[in-house]
Amino acid sequence: MFGLMQERPLLVASIIQHAARHHGRTEIVSRLTDGTLHRTSYAALERRARRLAVALRTLGIASGDRVATLAWNSFRHMELYYGISGGGAVCHTVNPRLSADDVAYILNDAADRLLFADTSFVPLIEAAAPMLAGHLQAVVMLCAAAEMPQVALPPGIALLCYETLIDAAGEDYAWPVFDERTAANLCYTSGTTGRPKGVLYSHRSILLHTMAENGGAVFGLRPADRAMPVVPMFHVNGWGSAYAAPAAGAALVMPGRHLDGASVAKLMNDERVTVSAGVPTVWLGLLSHLRASGERLHTMQRLIIGGSACPPALIEAFDREYGVTVEHAWGMTESSPLGTFNTPRIVPGEDAAAALQRKAKQGHAIFGLDMRIVDDAGQEQPWDGVASGNLQIRGHWVCSAYYGNPPGSATDAEGWFTTGDVATISPDGNMEITDRSKDVIKSGGEWISSILLENIAVAQPEVAEAAVIAAAHPKWDERPVLLVVPRQGQTIDPARLLGAYRGQVPNYWIPDAVVVLDELPHTATGKVSKLALRKRFRDHLTSSASAA
Ligand code: ADP
Repeated sequence: MFGLMQERPLLVASIIQHAARHHGRTEIVSRLTDGTLHRTSYAALERRARRLAVALRTLGIASGDRVATLAWNSFRHMELYYGISGGGAVCHTVNPRLSADDVAYILNDAADRLLFADTSFVPLIEAAAPMLAGHLQAVVMLCAAAEMPQVALPPGIALLCYETLIDAAGEDYAWPVFDERTAANLCYTSGTTGRPKGVLYSHRSILLHTMAENGGAVFGLRPADRAMPVVPMFHVNGWGSAYAAPAAGAALVMPGRHLDGASVAKLMNDERVTVSAGVPTVWLGLLSHLRASGERLHTMQRLIIGGSACPPALIEAFDREYGVTVEHAWGMTESSPLGTFNTPRIVPGEDAAAALQRKAKQGHAIFGLDMRIVDDAGQEQPWDGVASGNLQIRGHWVCSAYYGNPPGSATDAEGWFTTGDVATISPDGNMEITDRSKDVIKSGGEWISSILLENIAVAQPEVAEAAVIAAAHPKWDERPVLLVVPRQGQTIDPARLLGAYRGQVPNYWIPDAVVVLDELPHTATGKVSKLALRKRFRDHLTSSASAA
């Protein structure tokens, strides 16, 4: 016997319809490319998203067509999220920090028909355009007619203006109702190994992820919140903020391209931000700025940190010095992205050191998703906080196949997706990533966690940022090498720094060398690029240059 409850397809447009109807006056504040602030409301944004859907139809975009965006976080990018997918097409967010070659590869692979772009990306578009295979019919600049830049495009690709399209389109449009399994968004992984691969989210997966994200044990946004997604909307749907905030009726503050510590702190205070989310690099930048300037955060309550391991020193500093709670999250493009979340909890009898150790782990599986660790033979490993294994996940918003491949081709027969991360899980289900499998350091057959070594380095007062990589070694195969950037005005004494490891890790974990750099290379998603560092320092312990 089936239940007798209503069944309505889970569609992305329902989120913005809900926000317009029930939280219509709630604000979306965007810092635009020129630095000015723009204000709108959910009601106004929904109207413009409808106009966009009409404009797309006029341009011949049909259900299932891919429409690309190359844009910072702003109200217009949000209109694209809803106008494109809400009308049945696929919103394909492209990462503008990739090379022109990769951008062209991605646009060709997805066979995008339109590209909506911020004016700051004109050079990138011009560099990529000659490599396009002929699917793209127009580039639409996200600006008003008076702001239209010159863009050199090959014949066959038209240049259009976003605001002109919106002005010309009517509002008389009803969001269509269709199968919830329809593709809504497409996002390519950064391609740190091989060419980027597309992850194709469905309306259903996005809605379920949004509901899970707004659960009390996860982001748990509320109407009193003013949420600032620092994570870009071109990266895994901005971790879902552009869905979760309107679903909850929380205000959104979009920082645009200005992500340095001073700009982030100013926007947080000026716009009374309560919660924000992003990668550790941005928060390390914010912390350095606050410490150097003496500025305080007046309304911030919670920082959600993920994308790479959050150093315990960062959790402690924000909590102790600024009264801001850090919540550590783990996920990936293939998991929409939320997989685990380290929710604040009270553990009777726990001392401060143990609490910090617990909070620094990547957290507990979110309801709707399951995880396990397995050895190389696929044998499940115990949850004892010691045994480590390959982390696998399955759930309502985990990818089943990459774009263009048959369903189920990215998982095993039981639906487990192998993440490429190596982790331990404590008896109570707190997961800790020890490494990405390709970053693992194997010294004399023993695994050394680069993340743990980096966390210890970043906890030292003279260190701003750190990375540990495996360098080739004639006797041990691989040995850790520590690459560090000093804090402003500080110098690093390698011997003192290595001394800090004594007693904290087994002696054989202590790095063989320290290299002081002015800066570390970052990937297109703002994480430290270990790939670039490995290329540069792989032979550091064997080459005569480094010995000298
Ligand atoms: P890319 O890093 O290639 O841009 P993703 O954003 O999908 O692509 O990255 C997902 C990966 O980032 C995870 O598999 C994991 O290695 C790493 N990651 C994400 N969050 C965390 C975290 N909190 N701690 C450690 N690693 C993390």
